[in-house]
Order: sequence, then C-alpha cells, then structure tokens
Amino acid sequence: MSLTVLMNAGPWLSVPPPGYGGIENVIATLVPELRRLGVKVVLASVDSSTLAVDEKFSVFPDGQFHALQRPYNQVCGVAQAHLAGVARVVHARDDIDLVHDHVEAVGLATLAAMGPDAPPALHTLHWDLAKHPALYGNLDGGDRVRVNGVSASQLARAPQALRDHSVGHVHLSTPLAVDADRRRLPDKGDYLIILGRINPGKGQDVGARLAQRVGVPLVLAGPVGPYHRPEDLAAAGDEARQNPDVRFFYDEVAPHVDGDLVRWVGTVAGQDRDDLLAGARASLFPLRWEEPGGTAVVESLALGTPVVATARGCLPELIEHGRTGLLTTDEEELGDLLLAAGLLDPDECRREAAARFTPAVMAEKYVRLYERVRQQATTP
Ligand code: UDP
Repeated sequence: MSLTVLMNAGPWLSVPPPGYGGIENVIATLVPELRRLGVKVVLASVDSSTLAVDEKFSVFPDGQFHALQRPYNQVCGVAQAHLAGVARVVHARDDIDLVHDHVEAVGLATLAAMGPDAPPALHTLHWDLAKHPALYGNLDGGDRVRVNGVSASQLARAPQALRDHSVGHVHLSTPLAVDADRRRLPDKGDYLIILGRINPGKGQDVGARLAQRVGVPLVLAGPVGPYHRPEDLAAAGDEARQNPDVRFFYDEVAPHVDGDLVRWVGTVAGQDRDDLLAGARASLFPLRWEEPGGTAVVESLALGTPVVATARGCLPELIEHGRTGLLTTDEEELGDLLLAAGLLDPDECRREAAARFTPAVMAEKYVRLYERVRQQATTP
C-alpha cells in the first residue's frame, strides 16, 4: 500500500512515553503495525521520541508536559507552536495523504483551519467528551476533517458536532493480546485486583467496601495523584491533600484498606504488573464514570483475567456477560458477582483478546478508516 500518514502525537510527551502516557502509548502500539501494512509514517512529536518511523519532525526538543493546561490542552502557546509546525510541513510538501491527529481540542481546530489545500485529517478522540463540548465547537474544515472514537459509547456521548463528523470507532489494543491464547501464565492466586489511577470515576471506594462485605481479598494497584508508592504518600504529609485524588483516597478508600483483606500496593509496572494482573481471579471495575476506552480492561482479558464491572461506558462493548466477565448496573449486586468470578474461564478471555484486541487488529481498522476519510474528502 502506498499511503503516507502524518501522525501528530503532539508536544506533551515523547513516544513511546517515559512512564505515564495513554495517548502516546496508543501511537507507539499503532505505528509499527501500520508500517508492517506498508503505510509510511511521518511522526510529528518531540525530538526525544525514539519510536521507529519513516521520518519525524518536531518543534520542541523534549516533552512539554509541564505546560499542559488542564482540562485538556486548551489554547496554549506550546500547542499552538507545535501545530503551526505541523501546518508548515503539511503545506510545504505534497506527499502527505492524510493527517492522523491525536492532539485534543486544539489539534482538531487547527486541522479544520488548514483549508482546502491541506490533506484530509482523522482526529482520534481519547477522552470522555460529554463534559467538554465547547472545546470541540469549531469544525469548519467540513468533510476534510473526520473524527473517530475509541468506543461506540464514547462517540454516543460526544457533542453533536463531533458525531456529525464521525467515521466510527476503533477499540484500544494491547501488545499483551499477541499470542495471548498460547502464552504460559502464572497460576491464579486467591485475590481480586483493581488496576488503575485511584480516582472517584474508577470507584476503588466501592470495590474496597464490597470486598470487605463479601470477604474476598482485593489488591488496589495504581497511583494516588502523583504518588506512586504508599511510603511516598505517607511522607508527603498534609499538603498532599490539596490533590483531589489524594483526598478521595484518604476520605473514601483508606477506611476500607486494612492491609490484610484490602491492600493498596501503589503503582505496578512491567512484568510485576502483568504477573499481578494474570494471577488475579478477576479484575474489578466498579466504575462511576463512562470509561471511554479501557486499556486495563483489554489487558486483563489478554492475561486471562475475567472482568467484573459496572456496565458503564465501553465495558459492555469489551466484555461479554457470562463469558469474559460479569456486568451489572447495580452497585450492590456487584458484590455478589465478585464471588461468582472464579467460575469464568480464563482461556475464553485470552482467546477474546487474541481475536479482538491485538495491535494488528487495531492497525487494520485504522487503515480502513483512513480510506473512508480520504474517500469522503474527495467525494463532493
Ligand atoms: N497502569 C499501570 N500500573 C498501575 C496502574 C495502571 O501500568 O499501577 C496502566 C494500565 O495497565 C493501563 C493504563 O495504566 O495500561 C491505564 O489506562 P486505562 O485506559 O485503563 O485508564 P485511564 O487511566 O487512561 O483512564
């Protein structure tokens, strides 16, 4: 295939990311598979990115995460400078067939403003968008600019202007799903796990309370705000409470953490993370928000760990109730499901991941979306 894609990763973190970095991880997973399919990739990122691509360019030497304004990268000098660099490159050469953009909000607006001479663009939505419609108000690029979601439910909740420009969704993937059905995994231990940032949306307070109620051991793995290890949080003292996730942890989660039945182990990474996840009877997602993409959900399946979750956000798209997990809309019923999770077959989960959530599957879907975006851009 002769297709040249300008992959706009943005100026915030290098690709692959040094640690935290969901969007940059998606790009690092997608690009090698696209290149395997014959797509030429020009990466717009920061100079310190080490991802293997056909060409790359940058405006900044390294990640500008410290300059990121929350929520999202609203109009901000760093984003503007990076995007002006992308616009210059796009206008200076005639071999870019499509821009695949991942820079929230401002990226989309910039693409829309590039005018009819710019190549068509696909912008991937990465977050829960319902709360931030204004950031996506201006889509004057018409049919040249399209968006995709990371789940159908994320798109369904997105502002109308985005849905009008949607070409569909592509679920997230994980390299763990490659050969997931064949890999040897550690034996199951007698515990459940919640893997994710400690945050009200992820519902660790609900999970910890339910685990205490039904008497099953639960491991909470993930950072509390900027604190990755329990000893770092303990050493931070009262000032740490300025962070809302720290307050949530102390006020809502910690009362159920007894260090025995329910434990918080901090952030886990690499092989330790995989072993902990693979060894759990089930992975619990007691969500209180509409999970947009659910990387940890597909990772669980790939490691043969069934998912017990609130049926919110993308969960019903990723999990088949009764086969790869157990879903309910009732918080109290979730407690009963914790006890039933051991009845599910880990091999069904691994087969599902190997069939649906590999990077190769994701790349094939993106190539199809690229074709659709280009067709729609050339058809009046
Ligand atoms: N993660 C990790 N260690 C932790 C907690 C989370 O490696 O202690 C990873 C997890 O495996 C997943 C990502 O962080 O790859 C979280 O992505 P997800 O889409 O599940 O949640 P988000 O934080 O983006 O809402």
